[in-house]
Amino acid sequence: MSEGSAGQRTFVLATHNQHKVAEFEAMLGSAPGLPAGAAAGSAHGGIHIVSYDGPEPIEDGASFTENALIKARAAAAHTGLPALADDSGICVDILGGAPGIFSARWAGAARSDTDNVKLLLEQLSDVRDADRGAHFTCSIAIVIPASEGTPALEAVVSGNWPGRIAREVRGENGFGYDPIFIPAGNIDSSAELPPAKKNALSHRSRALKALAELLASGKLGI
Ligand code: IMP
Repeated sequence: MSEGSAGQRTFVLATHNQHKVAEFEAMLGSAPGLPAGAAAGSAHGGIHIVSYDGPEPIEDGASFTENALIKARAAAAHTGLPALADDSGICVDILGGAPGIFSARWAGAARSDTDNVKLLLEQLSDVRDADRGAHFTCSIAIVIPASEGTPALEAVVSGNWPGRIAREVRGENGFGYDPIFIPAGNIDSSAELPPAKKNALSHRSRALKALAELLASGKLGI
């Protein structure tokens, strides 16, 4: 296990998005249940996340889990560090779980959030309110490279955020499908929620909590 300054554990996160790095570090550092010394900034050490800037693998997995593993394996192989990667998207019940892993490019390779949202609204234009159920999902893979005497280790955790698809866009916060996602128990879209509230409820935070619990359990031997 690689140790940074003051016993910190360094993980590489397969993303170029610094916001994601900060979210992972904050969440893994502050989640309840982590063992003494696992919290970022604690006196005994912490979790330090660095972003990955190596070659990008082809994400040709057939599920969120597979794609998260592909990205984490590539980051671990290139850096030799324990690696984390997430893969997320929106799954609409009446579309059999689509857009799913194609969420980012649902309306084409340009990966336009505006076009993706417009297309999904068009596809659901005749669907009744009661049948507009959907959820965001996020899978996070952790890959710990083999070291002397210890085999490589892989695990995946996931989090879902249930809700439904609105009939029109609302709200300015967030990104992607947030303006048309109404979380269960809310009347506001996730783009109308204050960012801190969204971050507390979201699929990503649920998956991160599961990851923090897995790290705290000691099952990974770290
Ligand atoms: P990624 O796995 O973070 O690259 O996300 C894939 C795609 O899923 C994004 O391009 C968005 O379209 C969608 N998505 C994932 N998470 C969210 C979210 O929290 N809000 C809105 N859209 C999301």
